[in-house]
Amino acid sequence: AKTLGKSRTEMFHREMHRSAMTRLTLEADLRRAMVNGEFLLHYQPIVSLESLEVVGFEALVRWRRPDGSMVYPGDFIGIVEDTGLIVALGFWILREACMATRRWQREFPRETPLTISVNISPRQFAEPDLVAQVRRIIAETGIDPQTVRLEITESVTIGDADREVSMLSQLKDLGIRLSIDDFGTGYSSLSYLHRLPLDVLKIDRSFVSAMDKSAESFQIVNTIMNLARNLGMHVVAEGAEVAGQIEQLQSLGCDYGQGYFFSKPMDPADVVKLLKGPTHW
Ligand code: C2E
Ligand code: CA
Ligand code: CA
Ligand code: CA
Repeated sequence: AKTLGKSRTEMFHREMHRSAMTRLTLEADLRRAMVNGEFLLHYQPIVSLESLEVVGFEALVRWRRPDGSMVYPGDFIGIVEDTGLIVALGFWILREACMATRRWQREFPRETPLTISVNISPRQFAEPDLVAQVRRIIAETGIDPQTVRLEITESVTIGDADREVSMLSQLKDLGIRLSIDDFGTGYSSLSYLHRLPLDVLKIDRSFVSAMDKSAESFQIVNTIMNLARNLGMHVVAEGAEVAGQIEQLQSLGCDYGQGYFFSKPMDPADVVKLLKGPTHW
């Protein structure tokens, strides 16, 4: 038993060593990726559930490694956060998304211009010059700030509530819109939500993807819808994959849907194709 115990310990140390190595390598790779421009954005359509028209897109970051393989944010965004690289990457993402959207808005003018939603991580939110940077990017890209939506998560909201309210108000003063992302998975109290100047509430995919099979999930979506309505917020349902979910969301009066039912996130060339053609889902 003793030898077994020892070899287990050794195995454990080897594992630790290996994962520390992997992490260090990954960290170095990510720093290089930033310098070499290996990041790119895909865009997922957000669709009006009333007209079934595309009203905008959410920008989602990807990493194409030099060997051509594509890495998804679930596998690197945590490290990018921990190392602080997210600050530089996040501003690059915002600029890139605004530039692309500005082009699409010019090329495909509409009564209501296309919107662009960009994720802001908690680490970015902690940056003292966030507001100044966002203002600069809006000015430099020439995008109408009313068409820009920053998505924050409820986890941002743990911490200094007064600072947060003040930051969000300053962002609102730039003319941009604010969305609360992954709603339902965090711990925001009602009164707290009420204090924040939010325009859009995004219902987390976990509820939407289960709503056609679980009465409880359907009820949660219904409750969140009513909450948003009472607070005067628009609602985007994330992660709808099948027609039944779309019909349920429509019956609840949900404004917008985003999910594989409509489209996976796409590269900019496919965005142009989508905006050119007649849309049929
Ligand atoms: P998120 O902000 O909640 O983004 C939605 C995620 O759900 C995306 O995954 C999208 O591809 C996926 N999704 C959308 N519809 C469906 C569906 O119908 N079914 C399924 N199974 N999935 C769906 P993605 O692109 O892998 O991003 C994962 C997360 O990584 C994002 O979750 C966000 O938290 C983070 N992330 C992505 N891009 C950025 C970014 O530019 N900046 C920051 N800070 N975080 C980002
Ligand atoms: Ca998001
Ligand atoms: Ca989300
Ligand atoms: Ca999510």
